[in-house]
Amino acid sequence: MIHLNDFTRQWREIGPDVHATLERVGAAGWYILGNSVRSLERVLASRFGHSRCVAVNSGHDAIEIALRCLGLQTGDRVLTTPLSAFATTQAILRAGGEPVFVDIDEHGLIDLELCDRALSTVPEIRFMVPVHLYGRSLDLTKLRRLIEEHGLTVIEDCAQSTGATWHGQAPGSVGHAAATSFYPTKNLPTLGDGGALFTSSETIADQAQSMRHGGRSSNGRHEQLGCNSRLDELQAAILGEVMLPRLDGWLSRRRHNAQTLLKLIDNPRIRLPESERDQEPNWHLFPVRVRGNDRDALRRHLLEHDVGCGVHYPQLIPYEPAVADRDDVHIVGDLGCAKQCSDEELSLPVHPFLSDEELTTIATACNTWKV
Ligand SMILES: *Cc1c(COP(=O)(O)O)cnc(C)c1O
Repeated sequence: MIHLNDFTRQWREIGPDVHATLERVGAAGWYILGNSVRSLERVLASRFGHSRCVAVNSGHDAIEIALRCLGLQTGDRVLTTPLSAFATTQAILRAGGEPVFVDIDEHGLIDLELCDRALSTVPEIRFMVPVHLYGRSLDLTKLRRLIEEHGLTVIEDCAQSTGATWHGQAPGSVGHAAATSFYPTKNLPTLGDGGALFTSSETIADQAQSMRHGGRSSNGRHEQLGCNSRLDELQAAILGEVMLPRLDGWLSRRRHNAQTLLKLIDNPRIRLPESERDQEPNWHLFPVRVRGNDRDALRRHLLEHDVGCGVHYPQLIPYEPAVADRDDVHIVGDLGCAKQCSDEELSLPVHPFLSDEELTTIATACNTWKV
């Protein structure tokens, strides 16, 4: 069976190094907010082009803490996408914000033209959480223009975009803060939960450090209410010593796998992700589109050929039961493109541990599918 993600193969590659890291952290006898977290934060900040990084417990917490530290007040409206991990919207709601959903573009990412229109007609929107979905960057020039023209405060959700570039520039570099996740399926994963927020503001970073640590300041006083969202020393050490040194190798495997699938899959019923000259996706996912009601038929066909796949995402966030009936959730226009994408999208395996033979199996299974 070819899995969408293959953690047992990953373990075969990293297991011995993880054991060495466990031994080192265990023997050091310091398990919370120590040298491993500090050193990971330094390395990640410089690698991703920010002056500060604050490691937290999840991508969700990174978004929520960033919104709070950037001054979101209860009732503030936050422009965002209906097609993402549920965490993107949940973090907005938990921070007290009111999500405002606009439709997506042909690649599945929030439509920045529609955002511009929404911001002109609903001027009280002050915040935005755009998502660089599927490992593709949004157009960073347009995003920067939106920020400047509308005086927006932006937290970029980069949980899926580690290693992607747009004209050589990393997503996460134009907003006031960026958030990422180290969830096991992401491009820079750990062996559990983890996340980080990035900012070039010392004040925001200091406040986020206090907030993740129960609101405790460096002087030991509690000047704000925080939460418990500390990244463990052990996960930080695994990230810094085992995962990060392999990131570039894994990214180039993903690129190779995606290019191979793009070359080999040839079925007019399956629309492949388009490549554009202005960006290099990180191939976090390989989302294909299938028209009509045939997505589930393709999924079954692939399963019969031992190819596992996923759907990102089968339900739009504003229609999830926890959100649907709330009166602090807003939709601008109709979400026709997002609805269509959630009906048509299927993610094929593209992870770094696939062999060329398995890529051929995936492509052949796609090519032999007829409706
Ligand atoms: C995974 C993910 C998150 C949430 O990250 P967690 O670490 O699971 O909380 C948020 N946004 C996007 C786009 C994601 O893919």
